[in-house]
Amino acid sequence: MKKHRNLPFFVPFAGCPFRCAFCDQERITGRCDPTPEEELSSLDRMLAICGDISDTENQIAFFGGSFTNLPRERMERLLRRANDWIDRGVAGSVRVSTRPDCIDRDVLALLRKYRVTDVELGVQSMDDRVLSASGRGHTADDTRRAASLLREEGFRFAGQMMLGLPSSTPASEIATAEEICALGASEARIYPTVVFAGTALYRETLAGRYVPLDDLTAAVRAANCMEIFLAHGVQVLKVGLQASEGLAGAPFGPRDGSIGELAAGMLYAKRAVEAVGTECLAGKRLTVFVPPKDLSKLTGHGGIAKEAIRDSLRPAELFIRTDASVRPFLPVCRVD
Ligand code: SF4
Repeated sequence: MKKHRNLPFFVPFAGCPFRCAFCDQERITGRCDPTPEEELSSLDRMLAICGDISDTENQIAFFGGSFTNLPRERMERLLRRANDWIDRGVAGSVRVSTRPDCIDRDVLALLRKYRVTDVELGVQSMDDRVLSASGRGHTADDTRRAASLLREEGFRFAGQMMLGLPSSTPASEIATAEEICALGASEARIYPTVVFAGTALYRETLAGRYVPLDDLTAAVRAANCMEIFLAHGVQVLKVGLQASEGLAGAPFGPRDGSIGELAAGMLYAKRAVEAVGTECLAGKRLTVFVPPKDLSKLTGHGGIAKEAIRDSLRPAELFIRTDASVRPFLPVCRVD
C-alpha cells in the first residue's frame, strides 16, 4: 500500500472570523496573505515540486485558516486549481482544515464537487469554558453538529485538539480526546499551546494570568490523549507544531519541535510501568524492548522517558533494547 502524504498549502488566517487568543498562523506557517495571482502560482510551484513523488498517495491539503469560510470565489479558485493537478495525477484528493462553526450542508456539497474527502476540524476543546477563555467564538455543540454533518455526508474527519489552553485541565483534555473518538474521527492531531508574541495569550502570560505548560507536562498530557486515540483506532497524525523558526522563537510554552517524540516516549514509559505492575524490582534488572524505530523516543531528550521508568520502578539496572517483533506502544518488559 502506498504511503499517505499531504501536500500542504497554507492559507494563514484565511476565512477566520477573528483571531483566537493563542493563534499566530503567520509565525506558525511563515507565510502572509498573498494576492490571488501569487496564491495560485505559489500553489502551482508547491505542487510541481511535490508532484514528482510516485511512491506516495498524495492529498492536496489546505491548512492554516478556516477554509470553508473563505469567500466563495477564493475557495473555488483554489479548489479548481487543486482539481487540475488531481487530473494530472499529482494527487488523488483534497483535505481542508476549518472551524466547526463553518460547516454546513451547502459547503460540504461544494467540497464534494471538488474531490475533498477529508476535513480537519479545529475542535481544540470540548469544554465550553476553555473555548470561551481561548476566544474561539464557538461551542462544543458546534463541533458535535459539524461532526454529525460530516459523517452524514460521508466525509472522513480529523479532530485537532489543544493542551494547556486557558482554563483547561488534564481531565478536560481527556474528555475532549474521548469525545473526538465518540464523534467518529478517523484521525487526530494534538497541539500543546505555545505562546506567540503579539497574541492575546502573550499579553495574558506577561500579566501573569496565564501560565504556559512546560515541555514535560505537555508531553505527559499529550501521552494520555494519545493513549485514548490509540485505544479507539484513531490515528494520531501529529503531536506538536511543525518545527520552524517561528516556533523556536516563541517566547513561552512547549516550543520544542520534537515534543511529539517526548510524548511518545512518555507513553512507552507509562505502558512499561503498567506492564511490570506491582512486582518489586529491588536488586533486579529490567530490560524494556521497543520497536527499533522508537528507541530514540525513550532515550532522546536526555533520556527523560527512560528515567521516568527508573523513578517509578527503581530496578537495580535498566536497559532499553530494540526488538522488531514488538508492536508500537506495547513495550515488552523482562525482569531478571
Ligand atoms: S486557531 Fe484556527 S480559527 Fe483561530 S485564528 Fe487560528 S487559524 Fe483561525
